[in-house]
Amino acid sequence: MPRQIDWLSILVQCKTNVQRRISPLLATLSKPQPNLGIGAGGDPMRQVDLAAEKAIVETLRKHDLQFTLVSEESGLKKYGKNPQENYITTDPIDGTTNLTRGIPFYATSIAVSTKPTLETVHAALVADLFHDVTYTAQNGKGAHRNGRKVTPSGNTLLEEAVIGIDINSYKVQKITSQLTRLIQRTKHIRHFGANALELCYVADGTSDAFIDIRGKLRTTDMAAAWLIIREAGARMTSPTGEPLKVKLDPKQKVEFVASANQEMHETILNLLRHEKDEE
Ligand SMILES: [Mg+2]
Repeated sequence: MPRQIDWLSILVQCKTNVQRRISPLLATLSKPQPNLGIGAGGDPMRQVDLAAEKAIVETLRKHDLQFTLVSEESGLKKYGKNPQENYITTDPIDGTTNLTRGIPFYATSIAVSTKPTLETVHAALVADLFHDVTYTAQNGKGAHRNGRKVTPSGNTLLEEAVIGIDINSYKVQKITSQLTRLIQRTKHIRHFGANALELCYVADGTSDAFIDIRGKLRTTDMAAAWLIIREAGARMTSPTGEPLKVKLDPKQKVEFVASANQEMHETILNLLRHEKDEE
């Protein structure tokens, strides 16, 4: 019989270790950084990203866990004799650009699953490292923010909604044409630069929706937030309303719409659909 593992406690320990490991580096960020090459996800690696990943692996190993790491930085790595026992999908630092520029919005994101697939994620943590706010979720046990249960917003009016949209893409013309109607109806569009954390804002009612239809976001960035959204009772599907069934792989990309409630979700999907029909 497999041993009982208290994943939430271990994930919180991972986060604490990440904070500890990166804090000496924060002071040196304004100085020139060594060139560490390109990470598995395609972005240049920085010392903070690697230090954060190391902190996560170190904590998991300390608990004698066997796992396959699916990381934005190192790609796929196997630890222990039976690495297929657990899959740890992580973006050790989501929002590295914010961190290096001194913008106080970056997170660590860690998801635990039994297979390398999104639908098997059963424990998750996304932590705002600057403000020390930790979102966690476990399958069937709700989503929490610093230990308190969260619920999404009940707002159903697009006109009053705060909506996050990531439009950072060379395909911006195609994306914005799909988003025109939605943007025309809303007054409060935001993008803070750490998608995992912005999804948690939908989970806890800070915002009403978050949209990323670039086809560019990696599953390492959203695997943990996906469970937090689900457990909070918010909605998250493909832009056409399908359940998100994706592989957890550093190169796998995903598009989605996340909304606080079903009514808001349908309103947004309909506006996106309408644009597509006109193409
Ligand atoms: Mg990252």
